Amino acid sequence: MVNYKDLGLVNTREMFAKAVDGGYAIPAFNFNNMEQLQAIIKACAETKSPVILQVSSGARKYANQTLLRYMAEGAVEYAKELGWEHPQICLHLDHGDTFELCKSCVDFGFSSVMIDGSSLPYEENIALTKKVVEYAHQFDVTVEAELGVLAGVEDDVVAEESHYTKPEEVIDFATRTGCDSLAISIGTSHGAYKFKPEQCTRDPKTGKLVPPPLAFDVLEEVEKKLPGFPIVLHGSSSVPQEYVDIINTHGGNLPDAVGIPEDQLRKAAKSAVCKINIDSDSRLAFTAAVRKVLAEKPGEFDPRKYCGPARDEMTKLYKHKIIEVLGSDGKAE
Ligand SMILES: [Zn+2]
Repeated sequence: MVNYKDLGLVNTREMFAKAVDGGYAIPAFNFNNMEQLQAIIKACAETKSPVILQVSSGARKYANQTLLRYMAEGAVEYAKELGWEHPQICLHLDHGDTFELCKSCVDFGFSSVMIDGSSLPYEENIALTKKVVEYAHQFDVTVEAELGVLAGVEDDVVAEESHYTKPEEVIDFATRTGCDSLAISIGTSHGAYKFKPEQCTRDPKTGKLVPPPLAFDVLEEVEKKLPGFPIVLHGSSSVPQEYVDIINTHGGNLPDAVGIPEDQLRKAAKSAVCKINIDSDSRLAFTAAVRKVLAEKPGEFDPRKYCGPARDEMTKLYKHKIIEVLGSDGKAE
């Protein structure tokens, strides 16, 4: 049993309380490798932003759970070395699907876990979430739950259609499970293809797809039912078209990739939404930078020469999200 407090990590309780009061959102960035982690910590240290480092089950398979935990522990020390006096770093399991997986992460030094029972019938979601909450809270580990279904693909989680969260269920769900935060479905979606072209309109000038707006009416209803309760948005990458263009002009093929416009996320960050998950955007930044270097310098074979620029591009992206979209800069001195 490893306690996250010994690793210098924090749970989400205090960071969410401050974010709800302050009208901003905490970035939740997924990581799978060293360059991504370095970029996240550098961006957060330079902007003094609290951060949630997310590990999905796919990341655990890819990088190994033990290694990821030591990387998170190292991240705290790296942050201090960068001059960030009091780093506020949370290590969070993204989309845990069983009690056993959540328990193993709690036992292993995670400070927060998500139990995603959103694909289960309502009562089964409650029972599973409650079981995880009861275990995690013994160790002061916070728990995120989910109501409503997001469309899209995230690692092993695939859903064809989305179902918006039903606001009439949230009080009962939050009360009976004791969860610390709730992921809701209001039209965000996993992956780099968040909407089908037929769901979008086209900008006549650029020919690019313009996605449908988020269901802010559902969010407002949820806020009314649970005032001050931390709400989470998954699948909130904006799929920057400049990265898609760089990828497509350097040998890639991402036709009609589309995300959530940043003005929509900015509006959400000012509401009860206090955690916004961003994964695809950093994948796109990484891939765009790597493709560009390899296309321009076909003789290059030192991974540092293309992973380095990829890391710089991700750092730039994370800082942009923190300062221009989430408003979490300067919130963790
Ligand atoms: Zn998600």
